[in-house]
Amino acid sequence: MKQTPATPVILLSGLTKRFGFGDAEQYALDGVDLVIEKGEFVTIMGPSGSGKTTLLNILGLLDTATDGDYQLEGKPVHLLSSARQAHIRSRQIGFIFQSFNLIPRLTVLENVALPLTYKGMRTLKRLEKASAILKTFQLGEREYYLPYQLSGGQTQRVAIARALVNDPSIILADEPTGNLDSRSSHIIMQELSDLHKRGNTVIMVTHNPDLTTYASRVITMLDGKIATDSKYPPEKADPLAKRALGKTKKTTTKRAPRKRTTKNNTKKGAK
Ligand code: ADP
Ligand code: MG
Repeated sequence: MKQTPATPVILLSGLTKRFGFGDAEQYALDGVDLVIEKGEFVTIMGPSGSGKTTLLNILGLLDTATDGDYQLEGKPVHLLSSARQAHIRSRQIGFIFQSFNLIPRLTVLENVALPLTYKGMRTLKRLEKASAILKTFQLGEREYYLPYQLSGGQTQRVAIARALVNDPSIILADEPTGNLDSRSSHIIMQELSDLHKRGNTVIMVTHNPDLTTYASRVITMLDGKIATDSKYPPEKADPLAKRALGKTKKTTTKRAPRKRTTKNNTKKGAK
């Protein structure tokens, strides 16, 4: 898909999602206006039920809005045919959700190579590509395991490798590190951070304020609306500051170089 630099990846105006009818009617999204430029790393925070997952589902073309406008790279999505939408979903968008469904009778390697079949890539090439991404996720030694032989953290890393093997330019992640140990979380955040540095757009829902340190922008949602929206140019971002939800730390004048790692933050992270 071509785009001019001026075209935002995502442009939402008055986006509304209503569930239920009559007494049960409820607005999961209530008039969301949002512009996301190519290459942003956006984290979305907010209490449970505030509409975060609904928003990601609509952004990822898994669900449609009740009202309002969604333009993906300048094109109103309601004008795209379902075949075109499926094409975009399988090649351009990488989903990382908490419910990871690996195919039980396929090996780790085959599971990860699966999305590449859409591209008509030769089998050997597919497996090579899958193998390479598994190595980045430190799962190289698990290639020939079956899903039931993996731990929870490994399973999730495999699912994430599968979501990213296609080199999607837009990555949508819904609490990707939600129930992971800190080592697995770190590997995943590092990969998302690398994807961001390579110019891809990352949109991640998280409950963990420490993880906003990876982001260039933090959005909070409340009752289906955007409550706050703050941008942090990378050169000014202080990885140790608890920026989300106004938990900004008083700055100390320590000179030690600051690394953007979750470990670092967890240590310092006073909640
Ligand atoms: P979050 O991800 O921020 O926890 P959700 O987007 O899952 O919030 O949900 C927002 C609101 O929409 C909630 O009140 C939820 O109950 C409602 N909702 C979400 N999906 C559905 C659905 N499929 N049917 C009915 N209500 C839904
Ligand atoms: Mg959710």
